[in-house]
Amino acid sequence: MPIFEFQCEECGEIFEELILGSKFEGLKCKKCKSSKVHKLMSQVAYKSGEKFIASSGSGCSSCSGGSCSSCR
Ligand SMILES: [Zn+2]
Repeated sequence: MPIFEFQCEECGEIFEELILGSKFEGLKCKKCKSSKVHKLMSQVAYKSGEKFIASSGSGCSSCSGGSCSSCR
């Protein structure tokens, strides 16, 4: 399942979205409804601000992508 992580640039909320195809225009932050969100690359260290703490590393025991519900 193509689930990607996104981070809101307004409030810093990180959320996951199931993306079909390659379109994720119109995504909105689940918390503040801002549309200023960007996709996070879970395996790559994000260029980060102080706010962003490497969220998902390399996964947990039940997946390898760091994107399942038990990864946090
Ligand atoms: Zn937000």
